[in-house]
Amino acid sequence: MKQNESLAREQRGWFEAIHRHPELGNEEFETAALVRQVLTAHGIRLLPCALPTGVVCEIGHGDGPVIGLRADMDALPIQEETDLPYRSEVPGCMHACGHDFHTAALMAAAILLHEAEDTLPGRVRLFFQPAEEITDGALQMIRTGLTDPAELMLSLHTYPFLEPGTVGIREGAVMAAVDQFKVTVTGRGAHAASPHLGLDPIPVLAEITLALQTLVSRRSDPFDQVLLSVTHLEAGNTWNVIPERGELEGTLRTLVPESRAATRERFHRVCRGISEAHGCACEITWMAGPPALYNDVRLCERAKAVAEGLGLRVERQPCSMGGEDFSEYLDAPRKRPGIFIRIGTGGPYASHHPRFTAAPEALFPASVLMAELAKSLLNNPLTGGANDAD
Ligand SMILES: [Zn+2]
Ligand SMILES: [Zn+2]
Repeated sequence: MKQNESLAREQRGWFEAIHRHPELGNEEFETAALVRQVLTAHGIRLLPCALPTGVVCEIGHGDGPVIGLRADMDALPIQEETDLPYRSEVPGCMHACGHDFHTAALMAAAILLHEAEDTLPGRVRLFFQPAEEITDGALQMIRTGLTDPAELMLSLHTYPFLEPGTVGIREGAVMAAVDQFKVTVTGRGAHAASPHLGLDPIPVLAEITLALQTLVSRRSDPFDQVLLSVTHLEAGNTWNVIPERGELEGTLRTLVPESRAATRERFHRVCRGISEAHGCACEITWMAGPPALYNDVRLCERAKAVAEGLGLRVERQPCSMGGEDFSEYLDAPRKRPGIFIRIGTGGPYASHHPRFTAAPEALFPASVLMAELAKSLLNNPLTGGANDAD
């Protein structure tokens, strides 16, 4: 117990240090250096990792099953507005999504697992991943090949809408697939007084914006969550000129791969069809982000039992149409079961808010939960077929 108290104190120090020095995606040099230094000082085996700002370590021996634990380390381009004594010292950069919490939580989980290393009937690999907020960090980590042996992947996220001491667990869909789009409509510029001599892209963009709403309201099954937001609409720069072109941007969020593909296809048809009807050219740029995130039912049951055994309250978390690149580890090229656990870190501000805070007292219990869950899964592997996300 004494030992745990000193580890919890040490952990608070890492958390505050990382919070003070936030780093954006793929620039997590200091954070990764701190993780490496602490893990090495505790005698934990680091695996060579090709990512300059990624850290991977392994605990346990032998040919038993391998469990993967993942934390993300990057911050956001937000000016912090909290009064924390350890608030960000980097102007315009802040840990507003709790990735400092995730990093510190996984560091202590590694140390707890390392203390029990000789009793583990398998191995645990811990992945400290860069660049979650710019959605390519998980893919970078997967491309190193280091995640290949992991049969299961576990991850955690701060959650301001639950109090410390509570965790949110939900089976099935928890986060959405994220697609980003940009549509450029090109017509012909003209004097505002001579619209017949030009091809005005503005009414075309307006029509497309409204027609896209019907992809959700008229073309999607009402029981299937599909969300489409046009968030940026721009054309022209003055009152008496019809512009040559204009553009719109936005995002599509879905939970089911078939709906994702079908809506994307309809989206293209609507944009092209309306543009063509008005004699304008249409160029669509589609950027596919991470797939939807599905929690394995058996893992949820296990995590719930382990959490309750540790005296944590468990609540069923709501599904979110936000995205999270942890889903990449559970999807192609290898499908594997996983769980994404929400750790109650208190509010009142939502993540990505300049006043977002994560209660440090939730840190150590989160580490114990992750370590105990990994141990439980090594000692009593899941049985039954994987519940496939789709
Ligand atoms: Zn975030
Ligand atoms: Zn996050």
